[in-house]
Amino acid sequence: MTIQWYPGHMAKAKRQMIEKIKLIDVVIELVDSRIPESSRNPLVDEIAADKPRLLILNKADMADPHVTSAWKDTFKQKGYSVHSVNSQTGEGTKAIPDLVHQLTLKKREKLESKGFNARADRALILGIPNVGKSTLINRLANKKIAKIGDRPGVTKAQQWIKVGKTMELLDTPGILWPKFEDPDVGLRLAATGAIKDELVDFQDIAVFLLKTLWMSYPETLSDRYGISDLPPIEAEPAIEEIVELFDVIGKRRGCVAGGGHIDYDRTAEIIVRDYRSQKLGRLTLERP
Ligand code: GDP
Repeated sequence: MTIQWYPGHMAKAKRQMIEKIKLIDVVIELVDSRIPESSRNPLVDEIAADKPRLLILNKADMADPHVTSAWKDTFKQKGYSVHSVNSQTGEGTKAIPDLVHQLTLKKREKLESKGFNARADRALILGIPNVGKSTLINRLANKKIAKIGDRPGVTKAQQWIKVGKTMELLDTPGILWPKFEDPDVGLRLAATGAIKDELVDFQDIAVFLLKTLWMSYPETLSDRYGISDLPPIEAEPAIEEIVELFDVIGKRRGCVAGGGHIDYDRTAEIIVRDYRSQKLGRLTLERP
């Protein structure tokens, strides 16, 4: 479920996050591997500034593995501890407690030098709606934890879930809003389903997808839609060229309205749904 964010929601989400973060040792920031930068909320830098952070690229199964590698390198160069997982199958998730444990080493050493025994590492999963926070919590908990919905303000008693020998995870995720400012970021979020469908225009998303995929994955586009002469391009294609693509795809998929005109709404919806359901394969929408 994705919600529309109003200033009141945002203020409340921020306050709740600041409170939650006080309880924890490590922030696990979850993003979508298909849009690793666009699915972040810059506020995390501010509110988690003094906590060690593990950046996890989720839905790695949906993204281009080469580009995911490149993103991981880029984030590592920036000093992040970074990991990629598929929360749905659990691939990669077993490593999480150890990665978190490495991040608390300094704190534990300091405590132990004073003669204290360090407690379990307390972690929180944080991210924008739909990146897979609940799926990952359930996976790590090995059971289904009741979902409270992406509605800041709806609270329930928080509990710690024991994960492995060294980690305790807060059973409710931290939820922040998606970025709104940059139109291309908005389109990437919409294409992956991170923004409510009622708030976005499928034709806009489809145009964006066709432009992006033509530049990055021309062969995938030609294969899927049977376009034989799609030339590789360097620069963004003109809108007229995208309309021609729409016409070809619409015709192929039987989206023809009265008078033989292409039904652009239906064509757009097919393109967006094909992308989301991975009928086009594992495609990443932004590169480092
Ligand atoms: P939340 O809003 O961040 O808690 O996101 P959810 O956990 O509800 O997940 C949103 C959607 O993404 C659901 O349909 C999940 O099944 C799906 N999902 C979550 N993680 C993965 C993943 O690693 N791979 C794939 N393919 N789908 C995932």
